[in-house]
Amino acid sequence: MYEHLRDECRKSSKFRLCDLCSLPIAKGEKYVCRTGAFEGRIKTTGFHTECHRMADTLPADFWENEIDYNEIRIMLAKRRIVEQQAENKEGNNGN
Ligand SMILES: [Zn+2]
Repeated sequence: MYEHLRDECRKSSKFRLCDLCSLPIAKGEKYVCRTGAFEGRIKTTGFHTECHRMADTLPADFWENEIDYNEIRIMLAKRRIVEQQAENKEGNNGN
């Protein structure tokens, strides 16, 4: 079972892949470094800040299965569209 220990916002010191969407996190880009204990080992994972927000909404057993990156990327794109629409709505309220 996975035990969550901490999340830290960091600036990436090297090129790495996001552990949620598997797309690159560029050197110098902000990302969230997550530390946890899994099967007797300390495990660190890295997420885009956006992916980190989505990671918290996923069911607890999500990480026990193999990740479908295509599915994740579609979920992220949908969230972006919804957020964009919400922003546009807010922007229009003043007019
Ligand atoms: Zn990501």
